[in-house]
Amino acid sequence: MKIAVPRETDAVETRVGATPDTIKKLVGLGATVTVEKGAGSGSRIPDTDYEAAGATIADDTGAALGEADVVLKVRRPDADQLKAMKKGALVIATMDPFGNEAEIQAMADAGIVAFAMELMPRITRAQVMDVLSSQANLAGYQAVIDAAAEYGKAMPMMMTAAGTIPAARVFIMGAGVAGLQAIATARRLGAIVTATDVRPAAKEQVESLGAKFIAVEDEEFKQAETSGGYAKEMSDEYKKKQADLIASHIAKQDIVITTALIPGRPAPKLVSKDMVSSMKPGSVLVDLAVERGGNVEGAKLGKIATVSGVKIVGHANMAGRIGASASALYAKNLLAFLDTMVDKETKALNPNWDDELITATLLTRDGKVVHSAFAKATG
Ligand code: NAD
Repeated sequence: MKIAVPRETDAVETRVGATPDTIKKLVGLGATVTVEKGAGSGSRIPDTDYEAAGATIADDTGAALGEADVVLKVRRPDADQLKAMKKGALVIATMDPFGNEAEIQAMADAGIVAFAMELMPRITRAQVMDVLSSQANLAGYQAVIDAAAEYGKAMPMMMTAAGTIPAARVFIMGAGVAGLQAIATARRLGAIVTATDVRPAAKEQVESLGAKFIAVEDEEFKQAETSGGYAKEMSDEYKKKQADLIASHIAKQDIVITTALIPGRPAPKLVSKDMVSSMKPGSVLVDLAVERGGNVEGAKLGKIATVSGVKIVGHANMAGRIGASASALYAKNLLAFLDTMVDKETKALNPNWDDELITATLLTRDGKVVHSAFAKATG
């Protein structure tokens, strides 16, 4: 089994699909591993560390990918990478499939076997492969660190001989994996933290982290979670009531971090321009949903916008801002998934195509788009 780890070509990508730690394990599985020169540089992993772990360094994309049976990546392969891969190669990456049907078709046309890690079912067996969780956790942490850096005031209450500095008020919108880590991080920094979510189950989790839960808790709210544990799209009436409550709350906050996502749909708009303007100048918003259209009106992808003296942070690829940590966890997620496809006796690739982890994530095979959610859309 030949495994390739190419350099990511997206300008904002710092992460990499394998680390020296996971490469040692891949070699132990019987694989030969080729890493493209400089692939780890955004995660502070020098080529020499990959070599020490047992990988060979390839000078360019063609040399890295040409022979590979398996390609471990962070993002969907670009056109040059697709061209360089052999037909039938397994590519494991985050594929960002929703709304990118043409790109999925291109992978089918290239004859690769593409797996979208973000479609991994959230079942106990697959927890170790859950890239959404491993990356959202770090993104939630980093959002608070970025907010603190932009804030320009101390976060904890400080009582000193020269006077008292009040604790910052931090409001987290969306208490999933990223939001819960943001709550924990802001609490560690000494802030007074509140949080909201449309899922009733989030209330207890928020409170267990020492934050106060803010939500309109009516009948619709009590029914708002899907069987998969994700948020549902809420009614217009609920959205209005919640927006009124949130509007008065936001006006009193120093920092707001938004993390609200609905799988396969644009991010819900939660913070209007008027809400932004109601905050004190010098306050900070961080929009973690900016890549999905944003939760905050006025958020700009890849930029820090200033509206009425309030900063709106719209960094892309938040987990990638701590690339070394993000890669360490992401690479382990990929390794765990690939491990399920390797026959431990023969050390050969032998995927069980009926395994639910595979049927849930497999996008393309044998020149076709095979995933039920995308097959029709691409014809
Ligand atoms: P996500 O990234 O899809 O969304 C982030 C949060 O935003 C969610 O909590 C969601 O409810 C919330 N949200 C959506 N619309 C909102 C709105 N209008 N206002 C406020 N909040 C809104 O979520 P996630 O972090 O991937 O977590 C989704 C669920 O999956 C959670 O219940 C989480 O505990 C669960 N989970 C389970 C596993 C597992 O069992 N293996 C692993 C990770 C997460």
